[in-house]
Amino acid sequence: MAWGHSGPPSNDPTDERKTVCQDIGRVAVIGGGPAGSAAATRLAHRGAEVTLFERAEFPREKVCGCCLGAAGLAALDAIGVGQSVRELGQPTTFFHGYFQTGRGGTREERIHSTRGVRIPIVQGTALSRSQLDLNLLRWAEQAGVNVQQPCGATIVSQDPSGVWVESESGGSQRYDLVVIATGLTGKFRQSGAAELAWKQTPHGPMGISTHLPRPIAEEMAWQLEDGEIQMHCGEEGYAGVVQLPGGDLDIAAAVHVRPRNSKEDHAGKRAIEAAVESLLLNSNALNSRQSDRLRQWFAEGASWQTTPALRRKRVAGNGRVVAIGDAAGYVEPLTGEGMTWGIESGLAVADLWALYQSGRMTADKEPDFGAHWHARATKFQTRRRRLCGWVTGWVRYRPARWLARGGLQRAGWLAAPFTRSLAIGPRFESTTTLQRPLASIADASHRTHPSS
Ligand SMILES: Cc1cc2nc3c(=O)[nH]c(=O)nc-3n(C[C@H](O)[C@H](O)[C@H](O)COP(=O)(O)OP(=O)(O)OC[C@H]3O[C@@H](n4cnc5c(N)ncnc54)[C@H](O)[C@@H]3O)c2cc1C
Repeated sequence: MAWGHSGPPSNDPTDERKTVCQDIGRVAVIGGGPAGSAAATRLAHRGAEVTLFERAEFPREKVCGCCLGAAGLAALDAIGVGQSVRELGQPTTFFHGYFQTGRGGTREERIHSTRGVRIPIVQGTALSRSQLDLNLLRWAEQAGVNVQQPCGATIVSQDPSGVWVESESGGSQRYDLVVIATGLTGKFRQSGAAELAWKQTPHGPMGISTHLPRPIAEEMAWQLEDGEIQMHCGEEGYAGVVQLPGGDLDIAAAVHVRPRNSKEDHAGKRAIEAAVESLLLNSNALNSRQSDRLRQWFAEGASWQTTPALRRKRVAGNGRVVAIGDAAGYVEPLTGEGMTWGIESGLAVADLWALYQSGRMTADKEPDFGAHWHARATKFQTRRRRLCGWVTGWVRYRPARWLARGGLQRAGWLAAPFTRSLAIGPRFESTTTLQRPLASIADASHRTHPSS
C-alpha cells in the first residue's frame, strides 16, 4: 500500500496528539466503506476510543463508478490520506457525455444523431473500490482504530447513557456513540432498537456494475482518453465508463427497469443488464465490431453486481445513533459525489461529536446529539443532492437530452458553474498533526473551493 507524503498517523504513545486530544468516549462505527473509515479515522484523531465493524473481507469490489471528486479528495487531505489516494488512482479531468436523442430507425441512424459533449471538471481521481476501501481502512487502523473484520454488527438497544452493539465475534458492548455507515444494503439494528425513520423510502433506479478486463478492452481497442469520465445518458438512465489504474474499464449504471416477468428469478437482473447494453451501444462511442465484441462479453463472461433501488433518505440521527453516507441518504454520483458525501459526512459527524462532548454546544438548547447531527447533515447534503438528482432525473427525458447536447456542444462554458459547484465542500481542519483539537470545528459549514 502506498502511503501519502505525510506518512501514516503515528501510534507512538509519546506522540503529542495523545496529550492534546480530549477523551470523547467509546464510539462504534458499523461499516468500513469510505464513510465509515473516514469517520473512524477522524474520531480517533479527535481522541475517541473507536471500534469499526466491517462484515466483508477486504479487498472486495462493490457497485460503483469508481470516481472520487475533488471535494472528496480535499476532505481526505484533512485526515492525511488524500495524497496516497491520488497516487493510487488515475486523474479525472473531463466528463464526456453522450446524450442519446435518436428515436426509432436503425441503430446506424441513431448513431448518426448522437454526438458527445466534453465538459472540463475540477480534477478528481479514479480507482477501484477494492483498492480505495482497503487503503482507507488501513489508514483508520494506523490512526488507532480497532478494526473488527470480517465481523458484522447490529444495535440491540439504546438508552440515554449509551448504545449496546452485538457483533458476530460474540457478546455485546456499550458505546457512547454508534455511527451507522452500512451503505445501501446493510442491516444495522435488531427489531425494536434505534430506529432511524425513512423520510423517503428506497425508490428510483437500480445500480449495476462490472469490470471489463484490460485484455478484452485492448482486443476491442476500446480506450478512453487520459482523464476521461465517459457517460452515456438515455431513456433507461445513465451508464458511466472509466479506466482504472491497470487498464480495466469500470462500467457502472443507474437504470430504470421493470422486470418483464416476475416469475423468472433472473428476469429483473437480465432486464438491468439489457438496459446497460442498450445505453452503451446507442451512443457513437463504439463501432459495430466493438459493439459485437461487447455484446458477446456481456452474454458470456461479464460478472455483474447489482443494488436495490437507490434513491432514499432517512432521519440521520436519534439519540446516540447517527447515520452517514449512503446509510443516511443517496446522492447521485456524476463525477464522484456519492463517496464525497460519505467521506464529508464522516468527518463532520466526528467533529460535531467532539464539540458536543466538550460541552460547547449547550447554547443550542437541544440535548439530543442525533437531532443536532440530523440538522447538520441536512444542511450540507441538500445542495449537491438536489443538483445531482435534478440533472440525472432531467436527462432521462429526450427533449432535455436534446437541449443539453445542443447547448453544451455550442457553449461548453455553460456547464462551468455547475462542475465548479460540485467540487465545493465544507472546509475541514487538518487533524493529521493535532495542535488545536477543537479549533475551528464550528467552521465546518464554511465553504471553500478545494483548489483555491
Ligand atoms: C451505479 C453506481 C455508480 C456509482 N458511482 C459512483 C462514483 O463514480 N463516484 C462516487 O463517489 N460514488 C459513486 N456511487 C455511490 C457510491 O458507491 C456510494 O455513495 C458509496 O459507496 C457510499 O459509501 P458508504 O461508505 O456510505 O457505503 P458503502 O461503500 O456501501 O460501505 C458500506 C459498508 O458497510 C458494510 N456493512 C453493511 N452492513 C454491515 C453490518 N451490519 N456490520 C458490519 N459491516 C456492515 C458493508 O460490507 C460495506 O463495506 C455509485 C453508486 C452506484 C449504485
